[in-house]
Amino acid sequence: MKNGRINLTDKEFYALGEVLFSNRCMKKEKQESILQYTAQEVQSYLNYGKRLENLAISQPDRIAIVDEEERITYGQLRQRCLMLAAYFQNEGIQKGDKAALQMENSAMFILVTLALFEIGAVPIMLLPAHQRIEIEGVVRKAEPKVMITDAGNSEYQKMIQKIFDENDSVQKWYITADLKELQLGNNVKLQVTEEIRQDDLAMLLLSGGTTGVPKMIPRTQGDYIYNNEALSRSLKLNETDVFLAVLPMAHNFPLGAPGLMGTLLAGGTVVVSKYNTPLEIFSLIEEEKVTFVSMVPAILNMCLQYRQYDDTDDLSSLRFVMVGGAMLPTELSRQVDDMFACKLIQIYGTAEGLCCINSLEDAWEIRCTVQGKPCSPFDVLKIIDENGNEAGVGEEGELITKGPYTIQEYYRLEDKEYQYFTNTGYYRTGDKVRIDEQGNVIVLGRAKEQINRAGEKIMPSEVEENLLMHEAVKECAVVGVKDAVLGNRICAFIVSEDKNITLSEARCFLTDKGMASFKLPDQLEIIASMPYTAVKKIDKKRLVAMLEQ
Ligand code: AMP
Repeated sequence: MKNGRINLTDKEFYALGEVLFSNRCMKKEKQESILQYTAQEVQSYLNYGKRLENLAISQPDRIAIVDEEERITYGQLRQRCLMLAAYFQNEGIQKGDKAALQMENSAMFILVTLALFEIGAVPIMLLPAHQRIEIEGVVRKAEPKVMITDAGNSEYQKMIQKIFDENDSVQKWYITADLKELQLGNNVKLQVTEEIRQDDLAMLLLSGGTTGVPKMIPRTQGDYIYNNEALSRSLKLNETDVFLAVLPMAHNFPLGAPGLMGTLLAGGTVVVSKYNTPLEIFSLIEEEKVTFVSMVPAILNMCLQYRQYDDTDDLSSLRFVMVGGAMLPTELSRQVDDMFACKLIQIYGTAEGLCCINSLEDAWEIRCTVQGKPCSPFDVLKIIDENGNEAGVGEEGELITKGPYTIQEYYRLEDKEYQYFTNTGYYRTGDKVRIDEQGNVIVLGRAKEQINRAGEKIMPSEVEENLLMHEAVKECAVVGVKDAVLGNRICAFIVSEDKNITLSEARCFLTDKGMASFKLPDQLEIIASMPYTAVKKIDKKRLVAMLEQ
């Protein structure tokens, strides 16, 4: 990156992808020639601190972050990050040290994260909804040097205190409100000790684990910036864009797909939503002239329902609404363009790396029905069958992938986690997908979620999509439940105001839709509301547990 320049040309960006890909996925001999080509350029471009420094110089007065309490310009953001980084450094936090973060959405979340990046320390992105089991598990496994949390209530403080006391690695526990109040002057200066390289660990993202302890996803400065940027380029983000961060910001989708990091790198504005209610979301869109927002289908559904009652907020600033993280029923996808007067952009993303996304140029029908193409030309996608053999073009199967920004192992991997990668370095997504002739990925559900009922395979999403067409069904989730006779029986949980809806009525409705008899639910449960995971996906494990109890 030449001095002061913020953007790379398409050709330069392509070269970056090639460098990252060769670094990660190619044999040593092949790497040499490619690496020499742009080694210097790569180092400075793929570094959050350097990128934000350039933005602070080129647009010091533009607003970078807006939250409930403050509006922060790029100039202030840079200055406050450097001062906080210097404070952390003075406190003994060094490059490679880990910091377990647990914070609600706020400007402080972004400041703390960027300050840690500045010294090469590694935030561990705990979600606000994580409880003792997850926090304790992560702290034990990752051995952070410090913990940084919001104040929380007295119960929460007791829990964190206990984890702090019982884990020797943790030397200090900071409360964000105290960090915000610190009178950081220019007298503490950041000592540049070691350069931050593109292949240095930037953060540990967390993903659901098999034992209740999240798996830790090591993302580097280089791969994460490249991922942010590849998505932001495909969405043509620039400094006039305003992103509303609705989901918990420690989650990959609002953090980096392209999320708040992609928006900041493009010089735009990040608006922080704290409560993620439709009321707050719509008010902030109008007040802050938000140009895009990312949501999971459950929040989209709430927003669509709310908008039917109250459509007074002015949403004309919106360019697009991104939806991903879970299956989006076409029933919902078809409503988005009309209801929000902007474009639906579906994203199929993983915190492990690979992100596929609709193009703004895609026709409406395409955007409603497919989850898009990989965001980097260097992403490699393969579909495999149950025996691990590569499937033919257009066939369904599990998606495996490798590429410039996709991990090839989890952090501090345990033996049983090897199942997540092939021995040739592909990440096994566990998702059942099909790729159409245009190269668009169509997610059909979780390969593992597939219900095997007396030998017949059923994807819950298919039953769910059809059940949602019933006018009395507001939300639904279909799970497989162990059954002595069938192996698994199909149970449909529905949220409905009509408490009289019966199993046989639901079965008739689905039969009328043309559904095979083996796919019809064996059991129907009407519940008041769906249980959700920390990132607002329907918690199917809990639904199964409810039945097993
Ligand atoms: P996470 O690592 O928490 O971001 O979750 C990634 C997983 O969420 C993927 O492997 C998919 O199972 C699911 N997912 C993400 N985006 C979509 C989407 N657009 N449609 C269906 N499932 C999705």
